[in-house]
Amino acid sequence: MTHTIIEPFKIKSVEPINFTTREYREKAIRDAYYNLFLLKADDVLIDLLTDSGTAAMSSRQWAAIMDGDESYAGSRSFFKFEKVVKDLTGLEYVIPTHQGRAAEKILFTTVGGPGKVIPSNTHFDTTRANVEFSGAEAVDLPVASALETDKRADFKGDIDLNKLEALIKKTGVERIPLCIMTVTNNSVGGQPVSMKNLRETKSLLTKYGIPLFIDACRFAENAYFIKTREPGYASKSVTEIAKEMFSYADGCTMSAKKDALVNIGGFLAVNDSTLADKARSLLIMTEGFPTYGGLAGRDLDAMAQGLNEVLDEDYLKYRIRSVEYFGDKLEKEGVPVLVPTGGHAVFLDARRFLPNVPANQYPGQAIAVEMYIEGGIRSVEIGSVMFGKEVDGKFIGANLELVRLAIPRRVYTQSHIDYAAEAIVEVFKRRDKIPGYRISYEAPYLRHFTAHFEPVLKGTVNE
Ligand SMILES: *Cc1c(COP(=O)(O)O)cnc(C)c1O
Repeated sequence: MTHTIIEPFKIKSVEPINFTTREYREKAIRDAYYNLFLLKADDVLIDLLTDSGTAAMSSRQWAAIMDGDESYAGSRSFFKFEKVVKDLTGLEYVIPTHQGRAAEKILFTTVGGPGKVIPSNTHFDTTRANVEFSGAEAVDLPVASALETDKRADFKGDIDLNKLEALIKKTGVERIPLCIMTVTNNSVGGQPVSMKNLRETKSLLTKYGIPLFIDACRFAENAYFIKTREPGYASKSVTEIAKEMFSYADGCTMSAKKDALVNIGGFLAVNDSTLADKARSLLIMTEGFPTYGGLAGRDLDAMAQGLNEVLDEDYLKYRIRSVEYFGDKLEKEGVPVLVPTGGHAVFLDARRFLPNVPANQYPGQAIAVEMYIEGGIRSVEIGSVMFGKEVDGKFIGANLELVRLAIPRRVYTQSHIDYAAEAIVEVFKRRDKIPGYRISYEAPYLRHFTAHFEPVLKGTVNE
C-alpha cells in the first residue's frame, strides 16, 4: 500500500497569520500601486512571493545559532561552514557573502565588464542585473522545450549545447570569462538540469578553456530530480549526486536563502586562487572580513547545518512531492500551469490563463493582483514586468508570461496549499473579467521590485 507522503517534521513553534476581508485587500493592493512587493506582509495570508529566506529553520539550526562564534577574524563558525562547503563542492576557496547577489556582484565585477559575454541556461534576474551592471552581456540559451509550458519533459532546465558552441565561435573565447548554469533553472520554472547536460557542458567548455560556474541556489532539489528522473542515478545518494554536479564546476555562487535552509546568507566558491584573491579584496570593501563576509558568525553556523539537512532524502521527497501536489490540483481544475512542476514553485502560464490580455498589459501581474484580492495569496509575476523592455519605442515582451507561486521550505501544510488552490480556481473561473495593467513608474534596474501599476479599464480614458 502507498501512504500519503507526510511532512518529515513536527511543529515546535508557530507564527499566527492574518485574516483580512476582500474589501480590505482591494484597498491594500490599490495603496500598494498593484505591486505585490509593496504590500505589508501582515496583510498577506499565504505568502508565496518567494522561497528565498523564508524557510523554517530546524531546532538543530537554532541550536547552531546559539553556538555561533562572533569573533571578527578566524571564527570557529567560519571553519565549520567552510568545511561543509568544501566537502560538498570540492571547491578550494570559500567566500561567504550576505546573500546570493553579493556573490554575483563580486564575481561579475571581477570577471565581467564591457565587451564580455556570459552565457547561461538562463540567468536569474539578479544574476542578469549584475552581469549587465558590469557592462557585460548576459545571454540565455535554454533548450527549446523550456519554452513549451504545456509539454512535459524531464530536464527542461538544460542549456542548448549547439547554441552555446555557436555563441563561443561567434563571440570568441577571450570575451567569455565563464558560463553559468543555474540549478534548478529558476526563470524557466524551477526545472532541473540533467547530469548529462552538466557533463557535456563542462566538456564543451573545456575544449575552449572556458570555466563552468554553477548558480547553486537549489542544488539539492536538482540532485533529487536527477535521482528520480535520470537513468543510472536511482541507487546513488542525493549527496553523491550533488557532489558529482559540483565536480564539473570551476566555481559557484549560492544564495543560502534557498537550499541552505536559512533566512540570510550566501557564498562564492572558486578553484582559481587569483580570482579568489580579487574576490576577497572586493569582499573586504563591500561585505566584510573574509571569515564572515557580511554575516554574523551564527549565520555561518546555521548555513553549515542547513546544507547538511537539505540533503536528507525524506525531506527532499516531501519537498518535491508537496510542490507537485499543488500543481496537480490546479491542473485537474483546468488552470494552465507549467508542466512538470518545478522544485520550488508552481508556475501559472499567464498567456494561456488570460489570452485576452496582451503582453504589454502584463497578464501575469493581473493574475497576481486577483489572487491577492481573492484569497490573500501573494505570488510574483515572472514575465514582461520582470524581463520586458522598450527598444526604440517598441515593446519587447518576455519569452514566457509566468506567475510564480513559490513554496517556502517547511512552512506551510497541506491545508494551506488546498486553500491556495481553491482561491486560484475561483480567479480562473472569472478570468474574463480581469483587466490588464500599465506601468506608471519604474526604476532603471530590476524594475519589478518597485514599479507602480494601474489597471487598464475598458471604455475609460485609461484604455
Ligand atoms: C535567489 C536567487 C539568486 C539571488 O540570491 P539572493 O540571495 O536573493 O541575493 C540568484 N540566483 C538564483 C537562481 C536565485 O534563485
